[in-house]
This record gives sequence, C-alpha cells and structure tokens, in this order.
Amino acid sequence: MNTIKGAPISPGIAIGKVFLKKTASKEISYAKAENAEEEKKRFREARTLAVKQVEEIYNDMLQSKGEQEASIFSAHIEMLNDTEFITGVESVLDDSGCSSEWAVKTVRDNLVEIFESMDDAYMRERAMDIKDISGRVIRILSGNENENSLNLTEPAIVVSDDLAPSDTARMNPELVLGIINETGGPTSHAAIIARMLGIPFAVCPQITSLVKNGQLLAFDGEEGTIEPEVNEEILKEYGRRQEAFNQKKLQLEKLRGTKSITTDGYEILLAGNIGVPEDADMVLKQDGHSIGLFRTEFLYMNRNNPPEEEEQFAAYKEVAEKMQNNPVIIRTLDIGGDKEVDYLKIPKEENPFLGYRAIRLCLDRVSFWKVQLRALLRASVFGNIHIMFPMIVSMDELLQAKQILEEVKAELRSEGIAFNENIPAGMMMETPAAALMADVFAKEVDFFSIGTNDLIQYTMAVDRMNGKVARLYSQYDPAVLRLIKKVVESAHENGIWAGICGEAAADNALLPLWVGLGLDELSMSPGSILRTRERIQGLSKTACEKLAENILSLKTAGEIEAVLKNYKRTDM
Ligand code: PEP
Ligand code: MG
Repeated sequence: MNTIKGAPISPGIAIGKVFLKKTASKEISYAKAENAEEEKKRFREARTLAVKQVEEIYNDMLQSKGEQEASIFSAHIEMLNDTEFITGVESVLDDSGCSSEWAVKTVRDNLVEIFESMDDAYMRERAMDIKDISGRVIRILSGNENENSLNLTEPAIVVSDDLAPSDTARMNPELVLGIINETGGPTSHAAIIARMLGIPFAVCPQITSLVKNGQLLAFDGEEGTIEPEVNEEILKEYGRRQEAFNQKKLQLEKLRGTKSITTDGYEILLAGNIGVPEDADMVLKQDGHSIGLFRTEFLYMNRNNPPEEEEQFAAYKEVAEKMQNNPVIIRTLDIGGDKEVDYLKIPKEENPFLGYRAIRLCLDRVSFWKVQLRALLRASVFGNIHIMFPMIVSMDELLQAKQILEEVKAELRSEGIAFNENIPAGMMMETPAAALMADVFAKEVDFFSIGTNDLIQYTMAVDRMNGKVARLYSQYDPAVLRLIKKVVESAHENGIWAGICGEAAADNALLPLWVGLGLDELSMSPGSILRTRERIQGLSKTACEKLAENILSLKTAGEIEAVLKNYKRTDM
C-alpha cells in the first residue's frame, strides 16, 4: 500500500505498532445468525468475560481510590448479572434470529429509553451504566476490546476513529508514540493536548479501516504522511527524519536563557499553555516565561465528581509555586463544546459550541463555580496568579463574573483567609462580539488574551471540529486579523496588555504580524516556545510594522497567507 496522506496536526516522527481503538458499537448493524443456541453461547461467554473484567476494575479501584469510587463497578457487575438483562438478550435471540451483538444493542436501547424517561434523576443516570456494560459486552463479542480502553502495555501508535480530549488527557506519553485520528482538526482539544505532550498527531479519515491492530506503521506528524508498509527503505527515511527532528530540538535548546527579542529590541513574552499542574514542568524545561493559559477544565475530566476546593487549591498552588513570581493565568472552567464532562449532566445540544458552555454554565451554576474561585483566590498568595474568564460575549456577563469574584473575596475576608487583594483579572477575547467591544471591555479588565481557536470559528461561522468546512477555518482571514488588531489597539489605548493563547500564537508564518501588531505575549504548547523564540530573534519590529500595514490592506486569506509565507523565506 502506498503512502497515505493525512493532515499534519502535531510534529514529530513515530515508528511503531498500531494500537487500534475503534468505537465499534456505533456501527452495529443487523446481522442474521444461523443458530440461536450458538449465539446464546457466545453471549453467555462474552457476559462472563465482561463480569470478570469489571471485577478486576472494581478491585483496582477499591485499592487505589476507595469504596465510594469502586461502588460504580459493583453496580455494573450487578447489572451484568441481572436476569432481566440476560433473559432480555436471550429472548431477542430466540425471536429474531439475529447476532448477539444486535440482541445486546436491542436490549440496551430499550433499557436506556426506559431509564432516560424516568422522573428520578438517579434512575435516569442509570442509562449511562446500561450503555457502559452493554458496550463492554458488544466489544468482547465483536473482538474490539480496545474500544474505550487506552491501557497500553508497550509503546504503540494509537489509531482511532473518535478520540476524545479525555482520552488524550489520560494517555501515558511514555507509551504513546503517536496518534492518528479519523476526526478533528488542529484546534480540536484532543490535538491540542497531544501537542502539549509532544506527541506526533495526524488526522486521516478512514484510517481505522486501512490498518490492523499490531501492524507496524511509520508516520510524520509535521507532513501528515503515513506509511502502512514499513520496509527497510521507509525505516531508513523515517529514521533520518526522526534524527533531523531531534537535532533541531537540540539546536533550539541553545536558546534557553536568551530573550524573545527582535533585532531592534522589541520583546514578546513567550508563555506556555497547560492542562494539568505537571505540564508546568514542560514550560520550565522549554524556558517559557510564564503560564499564559491553564485550561482548568482538564482537572474536571475523567472522573465521576468535580474536584473539591482542596484538590483545586493544591493544583493551582503547585503551579504558582513552580513558576515562582512569573504570571500563571488560570482560566476558569471552560467546559462544553468538545470538552464533555458526564457528571455535569449537560443535556445534549444541537450546537454545543454555541450552547451552554464556559462562562455561561458558571454564571448559571454559581455555587458550583464559587468552589473554583475560592481555590484560585486562596492559591493566589503563593505566586503571581491571574484569573481569566472564558467565552465572554457581553458586558453583562463580564460584570456578573466580576461581581461573583467579589462575593467570593468577601467570603474569604470574613473567614480571615488570605488571598491577593489585587489579583489581576482578564478575559479571553474569543468571540467577535467581545472583540468589537474591546475598547469598552478594556476599561473593566487587566488584560486580554485572544483565543484564536474560537475567534476563528465564531468569526467565520465554521465549526472548528468539522473537516468538511476546514477550508474556511483560516487564521489568515482578514476578518479575523482585523478583529485581532482592534483588540490589541484597544488594550494599548487603555493601558493594558494583550496576548494570544490560541494555536495561531505559534504559527511561524504569522509571527511577523504578531510582532508588527505589537502583541505583548504569546502563549503556546511548551514544545513550540524555543522554535518561536528563534524566529522572533531574526525579525525587526520596524519591518514587521510595515508588513502588518500591508497585510491588513489585503482582501483574502489566500493573499495574506502567501505574503506571510514568502516573508518567512526572505526574512530568515
Ligand atoms: C481558544 O479558543 O483559542 C482557546 C485558547 O481556548 P480553547 O482552545 O480551550 O477553546
Ligand atoms: Mg476557546
């Protein structure tokens, strides 16, 4: 098979065995079975194995987390042993002559419908458990046991049809050599986390039907090329690319300790984006000046309950202390969109990116949000913590958020708990509504951080996750760049600073424009910091200002991209 061309998402070379993670249950279709008794036997064996697997999880959880967390799995064992479930599947097999997979799916769908229509919230939640146990049995039946499990025991390339951000977040980067996913784009959160962890990533539709579990594969996350047939020649070629990649990394290491300063003395602070406290170590290792974006929602994912105040406090304090006196911008919970948290019970929405997410949810669930604000304020005495509100679209929202922050401060004061009275509070600039009102917002906050990932999707009316319309999702579009210019100018006219924390911050081609527009800070995946510094050190601010003027007079994304990419070549 020839080279497959995927979309490049996160740089790096991976050579290794495929670990196929396929969401098989999505694709179950009706299949006739020859012999109902045979099917019953298959079902019984699969169910027995499922019980055994869940018992193992139960015992592990009991030891590592305790009785409460483990109890979910004892409930799952009961459900798997429930006679209604077992006889339900067997009677579908008797009546319809179908496969066991289809029979389990039929019973699952019936039970889920019954549970989901119940008035009692606790009973409604049981629908999730039914889906979970049925999914396990179906996976065993269809030989797709890797579905939903990323328990790698040896280094491998994860190939998946639908990798969620929570999957990437719980991966062990030591074992994941690379990721190829069928869906998503460069700003999907699964991709952002991979970049943060330095894991090569490519997107390639239908990849799961082109490769097999365990087969040897080579791919290049910067080019997007995937080699399904690894022979001597390919091994040599990808080995050479790996060597070049590592050499470049070593060369960039030499820039540690230097400043991100242009030839004519203009300095931009380069910060790192993080998702969990340990990521701060990577920012320090790559010589990042500060933390420009702590996506706190990752503390809320992959668990059954929200993190309590003490746990959050410990996380924020850890990062603040690690960064000493350099800023740590903690963004308050930005859940929703492609970042799902089951226990928050957010009803399914037609347009999750336009729906009940981020600050909208927090302003609606105030007591829940206050737990985070308390933790954040308490940690503020251990370093230079800044607070940042996501997804603001109106002044009403901003004022409400600030009011709630003041209430929490008053509560802490009355309890005699210390916090930084002057904690800087800023906002994400990631909606056109906010960017257009930047001059007004600038009087109410201490800084702006431009979230280009969302700003592009909302300006261009194009879902950042949808490959079919990816052509329109461009950081070079003049509409997006005009909004960014407006945000930076409004910030400076009002004496506050403006940065970018979306993925476009680390776009090498756009850097001269960021310098020309006078951005104060750029926050990115730690792995991009030194490469960006190298580029800044070769630029002149005066020349970049002229370039910015020219760029902003152009009419199309294509023209702008061409000028910027050309500038890159002549300027280096
Ligand atoms: C952004 O939208 O650019 C951003 C940084 O936030 P997120 O990617 O988490 O939505
Ligand atoms: Mg965003």
